[in-house]
Amino acid sequence: MDSFDVAVIGSGALGASAAFHLAKAGKKVALLDKAEIASQTSPRAAGLSGQVRQSELMTQLAVRSVEKIERFTDETGEPMVFYQPGSMSIARLPEHEEFLRQRVLLGKKFGLDVDLIRPEEACERMPFLQNKSIVAVSHMRRDVYLEPRQMPLGYATAAQKLGATLMPNTCVSEIVLEDNTVKRVTTDKGEIAAGAVLDAAGGWLRLVASLAGVRVPVVPMRHQLMVTVPLDGVANTQPVTRILDANVYVRPDRGGLMFGGYERNPTPYDMSSQSADFRIEDLDLDIEVLRRLADMVAEQFPIFQAAEIAEHRGGLPTMTIDGDHVLGRAPGVEGLYVLGGCNVGGLSIAPALGEEISRLIVEGKTHHDLARMSPARFTGELSETELLEKCTQRYINYYTYRFNDQFTAAA
Ligand SMILES: Cc1cc2nc3c(=O)[nH]c(=O)nc-3n(C[C@H](O)[C@H](O)[C@H](O)COP(=O)(O)OP(=O)(O)OC[C@H]3O[C@@H](n4cnc5c(N)ncnc54)[C@H](O)[C@@H]3O)c2cc1C
Repeated sequence: MDSFDVAVIGSGALGASAAFHLAKAGKKVALLDKAEIASQTSPRAAGLSGQVRQSELMTQLAVRSVEKIERFTDETGEPMVFYQPGSMSIARLPEHEEFLRQRVLLGKKFGLDVDLIRPEEACERMPFLQNKSIVAVSHMRRDVYLEPRQMPLGYATAAQKLGATLMPNTCVSEIVLEDNTVKRVTTDKGEIAAGAVLDAAGGWLRLVASLAGVRVPVVPMRHQLMVTVPLDGVANTQPVTRILDANVYVRPDRGGLMFGGYERNPTPYDMSSQSADFRIEDLDLDIEVLRRLADMVAEQFPIFQAAEIAEHRGGLPTMTIDGDHVLGRAPGVEGLYVLGGCNVGGLSIAPALGEEISRLIVEGKTHHDLARMSPARFTGELSETELLEKCTQRYINYYTYRFNDQFTAAA
């Protein structure tokens, strides 16, 4: 039986980043995936990285991630196409003006180059945006967007070059414990001994944790985007543009415009009722969801009423009840770690979260205090109905969910 220091289950952005940082720290790593490496939700992401997030902690981690994206090729030796045109958040409702002011304050507190700008300037920066019913605009000048597939693939390839073993098409079906301590995992290709196991199984996070008897209450939620055919006037220098109350985003992509968003009646997935060979490419997509969102911003972005669509894609990010990711030791099982609960932001924050979980596994501590992300925080009795309801609220109010207490105090 092959033996590893750490078996990482899942080669999306989070698992691949963890595998890279563990291999860099000298650990013998196996990176297992039941599908091809880096092939599930991560490569289908929009690739946006907003640095001002819902809390000080998330903002610090997002800033760290952008630093690592900027020097990704130096650190990993792998390609990374990214653009840094900044991002704009648009308020159409008077109450969101104050919300944007608070975001600007939080950004400035961390030295970020962020300000409120006039709607006219916003339309100059993003020419497809019409200056109609816009109340306020914030502009975060150094936000980035990137080619999503390169993140998990780059980290996985770099991990392999550092000695990690990549095991695509290898499904973990059992986590074997002795005295509540991880000993090995069983796969459809045999057993692997491991001193530690990291559950980074994305939409399947909860299912994999349950193999060790641990409950990680997250809800996979379908999320979709579309990309138009190339259009005259699109340039990579145009900023990512979000309309807060409609919960939609727009960015340039391969000469066309990408459009995605958070619908008010989203579709959660219970992975335990899906077949074992379900893959993200089997997900039922529904373009009408995006058309309805486009109608909500027809005044500001009329282009999406008529432009031909070249690509429509979607995946299964996982929501948590509080919007914080899940990172840390699984409660009650020695040697089992969890990394997920991406809240539709896991791709862009994977550089920092992979670095932190690696520190925890290797050194026993993280750089930031990540107690609020601990899998052990879900101790209360939360029924499945409540879990679904809270995660759904998180999803449908994605851009305007009130800042948490930590930020309110900071502002
Ligand atoms: C349309 C869309 C737009 C998005 N836009 C953004 C964005 O702009 N910015 C951002 O940061 N995030 C965005 N996201 C979210 C982002 O894609 C996720 O946060 C990220 O991909 C999560 O990565 P992951 O590694 O947890 O999951 P995944 O990429 O899904 O990887 C999990 C892996 O685990 C494997 N696995 C599962 N079970 C097992 C098992 N039993 N054995 C072995 N392997 C297993 C799966 O096969 C899979 O490959 C978007 C998502 C979508 C769908």
